Amino acid sequence: MRIKCPKCDDAAELGDDFSYVKCPKCDLDMTYGEYVKFVAYKDARYSDILGDYAAGTEGNTVETLDEW
Ligand SMILES: [Zn+2]
Repeated sequence: MRIKCPKCDDAAELGDDFSYVKCPKCDLDMTYGEYVKFVAYKDARYSDILGDYAAGTEGNTVETLDEW
């Protein structure tokens, strides 16, 4: 399954059994558990930076390749 790389925003590969996430572009290689934490941490920082703008984009924060 292809997902958005949390590091470089390119296409990363999620293992079929959710055991790994790998990105050939930036050499990302982590477990899915680490990936979830990475994304959650990144999103938290992103929300902090955006601050006032968060209200207008609620429900629109999940990014998948389908939206490209
Ligand atoms: Zn990447």
